[in-house]
Amino acid sequence: MSPASGPLETAVKGVPPFAFTPNPSPRTPAERAAELADPAFGVVYSDHMARITWDEGQGWHDHRVVPFANLELSPAASVLHYAGEIFEGLKVYRHADGSLFTFRPYANAARFARSARRMALPELPEADFVASLQALTQADAEWVPSAPETSLYLRPFMLATEPFIGVRPSHRVEYIVIASPVGSYFKGGVAPVSIWVEKETHRAGVGGTGAAKTGGNYAAAMLGQENAYAHGCEQVLFLDSVTSTTIEELGGMNVFVVYKDGSVATPPTSGTILEGVTRSSIIQLLRDRGLKVSETPIKLAELVAGAKDGSVAEVFACGTAAVVTPVKRLAGEGFDVPVADGGAGELTMSVRQELTDIQYGRLPDPHEWTYRLV
Ligand SMILES: *Cc1c(COP(=O)(O)O)cnc(C)c1O
Repeated sequence: MSPASGPLETAVKGVPPFAFTPNPSPRTPAERAAELADPAFGVVYSDHMARITWDEGQGWHDHRVVPFANLELSPAASVLHYAGEIFEGLKVYRHADGSLFTFRPYANAARFARSARRMALPELPEADFVASLQALTQADAEWVPSAPETSLYLRPFMLATEPFIGVRPSHRVEYIVIASPVGSYFKGGVAPVSIWVEKETHRAGVGGTGAAKTGGNYAAAMLGQENAYAHGCEQVLFLDSVTSTTIEELGGMNVFVVYKDGSVATPPTSGTILEGVTRSSIIQLLRDRGLKVSETPIKLAELVAGAKDGSVAEVFACGTAAVVTPVKRLAGEGFDVPVADGGAGELTMSVRQELTDIQYGRLPDPHEWTYRLV
């Protein structure tokens, strides 16, 4: 049951309790059960949201959990004109005994602070970030589904709310966490995807914001995604913006290449690529298996040649939302080649299984990645 009222105390030291205003008209248990039965990605939201406000004079204040509702924003709010916005994405997993865990939340908290720095937004202390996840999960614990491969997706974000259209960092900012129950990202099991290698547009440039998790990068990637659809592909793979010869990442997922000799490579996070938590976890899990994993530039020409001659055995993409996504086909100007015989590779599927087994508490957690919320 949600606590009836009273502040939500978290286990995170140094963070004040979250004042709690329960939703006066939450979904009934029957309505909630219906919404949890077959959740689509990012469509349904839980009954509450967590908020913390920042302003220039006061810093971070008013930690609270309130009913999920529309925001009131001045049409002059800085974010609407200059895109002062960053976000995060992580999941709450229900373990077999009913306890609720998330995965490496301090990694997301640290990245959120790095994103804030890059976008000239105030840095939310890591403790406040993690506490906000816990407070919202306490309020909406019943929104965490229990069917296999389901979870409650948490979306923390920050926006520049000051009603000022002059150009400078905003003096007022709102931090919010919303929650959306999600099923398996792919209906009917893991489906390998086709990838369009985009040469017309780039998502990030040297010195730009590619390593920050900010909406602007997604805005820049949308046309490439549309080009992918136009070529019959589900996802887009971007190239470096200087030479258009090395692969970087998808619109919202990092990419790995598995070679026939058992070695694995992924592009280095040298400023234009988002440092995925899933990416770094997979690097660790593969190294734990004794595999050689290099973070090294990967030439598109060598990737395509390798897919053709079989020296590239598997390609997969990864991120919190879809976990691990096998790639079955690479297409671009002048090439269209199947990967892993057009299916899902063996290493791809086994690392996906291992990672989700750790997240759902079905395997030991040697690196202490899981973090109990409730
Ligand atoms: C969020 C994101 C990823 C994946 O990061 P995870 O921490 O693994 O979820 C990869 N690329 C981009 C552009 C992203 O925004």
